[in-house]
Amino acid sequence: MKSWLVLASSALFSLVVHAQGFPGSKPVTIVVPFAAGGPVDKLARDLAEAMRQPLSGATILIENVAGAGGTIAAGKVSKANPDGHTVLLHHVGMATSPALYRKLPFNVGTDFEYLGLATEVPMTLIARPTLPANNYKELVDWINANKGKINLGNAGLGAASHLCGLLFQSALQVDMTTVPYKGTAPALADLMGGQIDLLCDQTTNTTAQIEGKKVKAYAVTTPKRLTTPALKDLPTLQESGIKGFEVTIWNGLYAPKGTPADVTAKLNTALKAALKDPAFIKKQEGLGAIVINDKRTDPAGHKQFVVAETAKLGPIIKAAGVFAD
Ligand code: ASP
Repeated sequence: MKSWLVLASSALFSLVVHAQGFPGSKPVTIVVPFAAGGPVDKLARDLAEAMRQPLSGATILIENVAGAGGTIAAGKVSKANPDGHTVLLHHVGMATSPALYRKLPFNVGTDFEYLGLATEVPMTLIARPTLPANNYKELVDWINANKGKINLGNAGLGAASHLCGLLFQSALQVDMTTVPYKGTAPALADLMGGQIDLLCDQTTNTTAQIEGKKVKAYAVTTPKRLTTPALKDLPTLQESGIKGFEVTIWNGLYAPKGTPADVTAKLNTALKAALKDPAFIKKQEGLGAIVINDKRTDPAGHKQFVVAETAKLGPIIKAAGVFAD
């Protein structure tokens, strides 16, 4: 008798949950493909705060699934239940990993519903505080004098920091020993402690450390100098002599393929509301990021952009001859 009652009430409960639609009573989880405290993680936490009200006050959790340059997390989300309660926040790695990995646990083009891009973030070239060079020219002299002995951190093959480091080494025609971490938060900690020499990382992670002189900063990777007070005196790599050097990292949200259209529409509406939230905008801009406000915040525009970036970056990566297994 008792078990019938339990069965009947749980059937009723699942009916109620189903009728509530999305978001249901479960939390929404944003899977972050890198370690906590880094650029993607910080953005995920800011988005979670700004998307909560537009998603009817849903609880939004962050799950860090770090490793293999973000590909483990992307594989995990591609196979998650497509009910909108599991989404992925990922960056340019979505466009670099197809060229870098012989085998990927997901297909970028067919395994996801694209939910929209959120921000674009410049990168900075930074060094351990004890590195003797005090400006970009001195840095190049130091690199040339220390060939074969230089350690360059990154967040794994396919990460933004990997792409930036790859382009930097190829521009200088110097090979450095790359040290992969599970995200640039632990890489930055080791850089500040002097365990590695150089790191290329997003301004959302480096601005405070540059301002506090915890690292040495030499240049930004954008074609124009930044206006953020702590970064405005840094030269661009282009003006420092590397013609055409440009790396800007974009971040976007993805759901597993097959997530219903009404659910992806709700997620996209909540994302767009976050991107118009003055507190969110102020925070991102204070860290050198640009909050996107164009058709790339729509699923179709997002997907089109990722296809174009994959086509642009693939040959550059292949020319550098780096592969992961
Ligand atoms: N954005 C970093 C990178 O790809 C990874 C991270 O967020 O920790 O270099």
